[in-house]
Amino acid sequence: MVSRRMRGIERTLLRQINDQADSSCINLGLGEPSFPTPKSILDHLKKEVGGWNLGYSPNEGLQELRELIAKKSGFEVTADQICVTVGAEEALFSALMVMIDSGNEVLIPDPGFPAYESIVKISGGIARGYQLSRENNFSLKYEDVKRNITDKTRVIILNSPNNPSGAVYSSEELMKLAELLERRRIIAVSDEVYRDIYFEERPDSIANYVQNCVVIDSISKSYSMAGWRLGWCIVPLELSKPLTNFHQLAVACAPKISQQVALFALRGFAEKEKMHNIEELGKRRDLAMRCVERYTELKYVKPSGTFYLFMDVFDKMPKYGNSLEISLNLLSKEKVVTIPGLAFGKGGEGYLRISFASSPEHIEEGIRRIGHFFER
Ligand code: PLP
Repeated sequence: MVSRRMRGIERTLLRQINDQADSSCINLGLGEPSFPTPKSILDHLKKEVGGWNLGYSPNEGLQELRELIAKKSGFEVTADQICVTVGAEEALFSALMVMIDSGNEVLIPDPGFPAYESIVKISGGIARGYQLSRENNFSLKYEDVKRNITDKTRVIILNSPNNPSGAVYSSEELMKLAELLERRRIIAVSDEVYRDIYFEERPDSIANYVQNCVVIDSISKSYSMAGWRLGWCIVPLELSKPLTNFHQLAVACAPKISQQVALFALRGFAEKEKMHNIEELGKRRDLAMRCVERYTELKYVKPSGTFYLFMDVFDKMPKYGNSLEISLNLLSKEKVVTIPGLAFGKGGEGYLRISFASSPEHIEEGIRRIGHFFER
């Protein structure tokens, strides 16, 4: 009964682990900030919602919102190139559905966001991992991409700041890669959902160096508004119509109420709360690093962005077998949720991802329990 393209597509390991957690667990598996929706946005909603027409919007999204996204993107693009989507996830899905022909290869980061592989497969493409190696702290290296390019490569997905490692890709590597992609006529899909969450230099984007580029973004992480399901996709003009057509058939339009509040947020009215939350994430990152050093003997990748810390558990592998077993044991014995590196691809094996988007108390207690577990 199930179509061939859906066979073998399972709920991601990440969701499976989170599903096993109950409310008594310390959850360091969160993929979203624990902050509430900014109060200024809720106040605006309460005041204005009665006056809003909440029928369908144009399929591609409210014109005003698309113009604002174009202006705030920092890229030389127009509203015609923007489609407002149901979160970044739909943007990724719609973009790949209109770009990929059966048998095209799509390069995805390994380790990387688990949905990439499944979305590529459903779109008819063949996912091929390029390594983000532990020797380079999981940052992008041009050579690691180059060696995986074949005559069938049509698209490469880039994600900086990166989930799960928190790495930010350097301008130098992006520029070198851009030149290669232009030459080989490969389209870059730049997933920038964490682009505002950084603790050192502002992350660069491949979109600054290539014409053939799709940029994916959303309000889920930067404004702590994952449940509002509001994202967007910036595409080259020739993809704009097919993308909107696909998006129309899949979802008609992004939730209009979310488009209204996104207009308010992107006009800058929630900026103070957003910046405050990002500053707070910076403090929690420092706390998480201090706790790993205090309570464990584990090494970790210092996150330059996102709210994830990737902990090195290679030494523990002989005892437990793999990172999934370690995560499952941590859950049953210490009641702490972590995400096994394996969930992000073979390249993530030997690591555990913990999220510092949870409360400071949970960060400290969770890491203390991880230390206790490995002392046993
Ligand atoms: N891309 C990456 C790298 C993510 O980590 C996530 C969510 O965790 C998404 C996309 C999906 O974002 P959204 O909630 O806007 O669909």
